[in-house]
Amino acid sequence: MGITVRPTHLSFRSLSNRTVTDAIIVHHIGNTNADVSAATVHQWHLHNGWSGIGYHFLIRKDGAIEEGRPLQAVGAHCHGQNGHTVGVNIVGNFEEAEPEPEQMDAAARLIAALCRHYGFSPSDSTVFGHRDFNATACPGENLYVRLPELIEQAQNAYIY
Ligand SMILES: [Zn+2]
Repeated sequence: MGITVRPTHLSFRSLSNRTVTDAIIVHHIGNTNADVSAATVHQWHLHNGWSGIGYHFLIRKDGAIEEGRPLQAVGAHCHGQNGHTVGVNIVGNFEEAEPEPEQMDAAARLIAALCRHYGFSPSDSTVFGHRDFNATACPGENLYVRLPELIEQAQNAYIY
């Protein structure tokens, strides 16, 4: 997709594929501000009885983008919306901390690349926070208030 995604070689239980992809949903980790890996979240979600990590991408504190669930697979990240969305987790607890500039830059580039891949533009009708759909603080107040800025950064990355 024109961006560098770190492969993680995770093994999943059964997965099914999306037939429609028209939006991206942004998350945080929430219960810790630690720099957790996709492999760690994969273990958490397997323990939940899920097929494996529910997010398609994790963005680490240094801006590295890690592969989560296979991009084409239905995720497990936003109740009622998994059938048509991609889940991006920006690692941290943004009720307390601020996202790192490297994370914002990486998220903008990833969102732009996903939008181009699926054929829609980054906007407030295609890029959402988890709390827009479910009763949750996710992606944390400090990130949620910056979603308009993230969308604008993604638009700039999308155009050029
Ligand atoms: Zn979430």
